[in-house]
Amino acid sequence: MDIAAAHTSVPRWQTTAMEKNLGQPTTMPSSAEPVLRCEKISRWFGGVRALSDVSLSVAQGEIYGLVGPNGSGKTTLVNSITGFYPPQEGSIHFEGHQINGVRPHRIASLGIARTFQNVALFKGMSVLDNILMGRHTFMHPSALASLFYWWWAEKEEMLHRDKVEEIIDLLQLESVRDEPVEVIPLGMQKRVELARALAAEPRMLILDEPMAGMNQEEKEYIVRFILDAKEALNLTILIIEHHMDVITAICNRALVLNNGRMIAQGPVREAVNHPDVIAAYIGGAIDAA
Ligand code: ADP
Ligand code: MG
Repeated sequence: MDIAAAHTSVPRWQTTAMEKNLGQPTTMPSSAEPVLRCEKISRWFGGVRALSDVSLSVAQGEIYGLVGPNGSGKTTLVNSITGFYPPQEGSIHFEGHQINGVRPHRIASLGIARTFQNVALFKGMSVLDNILMGRHTFMHPSALASLFYWWWAEKEEMLHRDKVEEIIDLLQLESVRDEPVEVIPLGMQKRVELARALAAEPRMLILDEPMAGMNQEEKEYIVRFILDAKEALNLTILIIEHHMDVITAICNRALVLNNGRMIAQGPVREAVNHPDVIAAYIGGAIDAA
């Protein structure tokens, strides 16, 4: 079963992906240090082994897919990379520096930004202020506190606001910039999360199910914005997604997890069409549509 071939219509973003020559396997020069390198990561939660000996390396400029049925360890891997749940075994290197054991805010300031599977925005705050929170990696703690007070140093505020304006422009969020985040549609809230991650000026962006719960139109928009952001900001991307049509169209390579173990890895189409992957998907609960 070719999961990708199950989709007959060609959405607009797929044309963009083709124009940009995405979805092609990346061959990494043997001498080049990958941007992200995880080696034999294992993570337990009590008696549950969420990850077992998981390794991957992501090359500069690559879009790398992370897929697998629910509960297979995808979010745990992202939480390990970003310092939320450091692995008990294995090593993680970002741009050549070992980062396992490093705290999340420090990893963010090193250049890795992420979005969350479940929207994690600050309710009661505007879209603009939520995106500004993404600038915290650059702010002195007192400046962060001053975000909420009139006496915020004018120059610093202007610099942060200029950066945020660029992101608002890039992701076309002008029309909702002053709205409280909780009143805008879910698809737009996911876009604000992406904007907040981009506001941190990352070199590596990690997206945990950026299309979850979206309708077709919202899905098309977010894929386009991800591709535009990658190009404009020179990003390397690790993306978790259940939509196989998106994964095969935009990713160079992919890793498939099942029960915390690697079951396939390599050029994206080969990885997602591996017989073990199809068996895992038929046996598990995945929305490949
Ligand atoms: P996925 O993102 O692929 O759906 P997760 O990484 O969220 O999977 O979960 C993998 C396994 O780890 C599941 O069995 C889940 O219950 C367990 N797990 C994840 N986070 C925690 C946690 N904080 N405490 C206990 N168990 C967890
Ligand atoms: Mg998850």
